[in-house]
Amino acid sequence: MTDFAASRQQVLSQINNICRNCGISDDSVTLLAVSKTQPAEVIRAMYTAGQRFFAENYLQEALSKQADLTDLAIEWHFIGQIQRNKTRDLATHFSWVHGVDRLIIAQRLSQHLAEQLEKQGVVQSPLNICIQVNIDHEESKAGCLPEELADLVEQISILPDLALRGIMVIPEVNHQDAFVRAQVLFESVRAKHHSPEGWDTLSMGMSGDFADAIAAGSTMIRVGTALFGARVSPPTHL
Ligand SMILES: *Cc1c(COP(=O)(O)O)cnc(C)c1O
Repeated sequence: MTDFAASRQQVLSQINNICRNCGISDDSVTLLAVSKTQPAEVIRAMYTAGQRFFAENYLQEALSKQADLTDLAIEWHFIGQIQRNKTRDLATHFSWVHGVDRLIIAQRLSQHLAEQLEKQGVVQSPLNICIQVNIDHEESKAGCLPEELADLVEQISILPDLALRGIMVIPEVNHQDAFVRAQVLFESVRAKHHSPEGWDTLSMGMSGDFADAIAAGSTMIRVGTALFGARVSPPTHL
């Protein structure tokens, strides 16, 4: 077994154990491999080990690696901060965008997909998006405030060519109770009359805290370090 296959197996068996202990089915949790700063060859090796879902934070870095990996059936997720003038590439090069935190970003993503349809007569299946919620009200973090979520869901869920799937949170360090608050918020949208169709994704948990996140109901964990080892080089293409 390669190192990557071994570390992936280890993470998968941890997920299994956590799910078993919590009495939930292990296929209710999707493992995203966070490949920021990892070169294309490393992504290819992890793909060979069986991984299909990869998440990137920096657009230019992601586009250049995607160009080297077009022969692989990877599902690409964007989990970085979204700049308003970069939405076109996000709409056309990713299957999922997790960091949508204001209406204008969702409107632009939707518009780009409509333009693509008009120009080429085809549009890729709807773009999956999650609304990022600043669950701990941190000054330094992106995301809408928890109290803004309901309005944003209402406004975004009517936009064409987008599939609003759920929320993404990055809690403050050592704030595991934030996972529970996020879960309650996520379910509160489902409880509403106008819950969007396909509202099924609670994106939370990273290498250091995915056990707590899964226990609180996470359906998608974003794991970098535990799969690839510590990130050595800072991204140089920012
Ligand atoms: C980098 C990153 C991760 C992965 O972090 P690890 O601790 O390496 O698992 C997850 N989510 C987001 C938003 C990230 O930026």
